[in-house]
Amino acid sequence: MILCPGCYADYLQLAIVNQTQEIIRICNECNCIVYQKDGCKKTTNLTTFTEERGLPDLWSELTILETDEPAEEENYEDAENLFPAIGE
Ligand SMILES: [Zn+2]
Repeated sequence: MILCPGCYADYLQLAIVNQTQEIIRICNECNCIVYQKDGCKKTTNLTTFTEERGLPDLWSELTILETDEPAEEENYEDAENLFPAIGE
């Protein structure tokens, strides 16, 4: 489980943005989003993230890939599989 860097109250779920196919991590509790751009991790929130892409500010824009996280707790900065390659 990767603890949310925004609220520290919930865990980041792996998701795909339906329209852009970006792989992101999102927090169910505070809508914090962590994503990768140019090899760097970025932290934002759902509203800003969707606005930047001209998308509706809705969870339905996302497909949640992972709901059962492994039991081990990780900080997102140390998580090796924060953005696993999908389909490889
Ligand atoms: Zn959070």
